[in-house]
Amino acid sequence: MVKAKTKAKKRGAAKIFFGVIAALGVMLGVMIQLTLAANEQRQRWQAGERLARAMTATAVETLEARHLLEEETVRAAQFALTGQPEERAALRELEEPELLLLVNPWNTLPEDYDPELQQVGREFGTDYFMDVRCADKLEQMIADCREGGGHPWICSAFRTQQNQQALFDNKVLRVILEGNEPSEAPAIAAQAVAVPGTSEHQLGLAADIIDEIYPILDEGQEETKTQAWLMENCWQYGFILRYPNGTTDITGIIYEPWHYRYVGERYAKEITDLGVTLEEYLQMRRGR
Ligand SMILES: [Zn+2]
Repeated sequence: MVKAKTKAKKRGAAKIFFGVIAALGVMLGVMIQLTLAANEQRQRWQAGERLARAMTATAVETLEARHLLEEETVRAAQFALTGQPEERAALRELEEPELLLLVNPWNTLPEDYDPELQQVGREFGTDYFMDVRCADKLEQMIADCREGGGHPWICSAFRTQQNQQALFDNKVLRVILEGNEPSEAPAIAAQAVAVPGTSEHQLGLAADIIDEIYPILDEGQEETKTQAWLMENCWQYGFILRYPNGTTDITGIIYEPWHYRYVGERYAKEITDLGVTLEEYLQMRRGR
């Protein structure tokens, strides 16, 4: 009788013990769930905030660029009317060293430089133009990248001097707003946005291509499917990634895993095979 009572007591105690353990387990589970949900929510907010910031920056630049691009539209229309089709086709086939024309912080654009342009796309109400010698190649590359699983988005192509000036002034202003000395701002800005007259975009041979899902101009671009595809295949279309990682001392420009420059298939292949920048390649050619 006594034994049976003790047994029942023990059973009761065990029931309470396991009951408490089970309750704790459920509480822990709920807490983990809540933490995970909160984390996910925070990540969503952060992603939204990043996107909003990027869109604001893009919107400001797009607005500034829009009216300047109107004159380019007129010019492109004039070319379409007056250009000799045969001559234009012949030009496009030529792969003269002119395609290697160096424009960087130390080599300014030739004063009379006036490329023949062709529209390559229209994104969010802005028309984009490239040199006729590479416009079709760029469009083909974009189409094939999309086919290959990427989400390419041209966010900058040919720029006029005024257009480049507007972008540069905007960058200087932002550098000052970040708390830098106004006297130092132009030099800091110049590392990210080329000083007018020294931008490859003024050649009409360069385009900034970013990922639609990650529309931010920072090093995170290199992680996207779009850049992985472009970096691997761009040479086949005559383009090179112009400012690779770790080459700022040579190019004068920060690492830009979105800026592609057309140099023609032959040179693009050689430059890619050698794994050098355009500056180094030109140096090698001169040494030949
Ligand atoms: Zn660029």
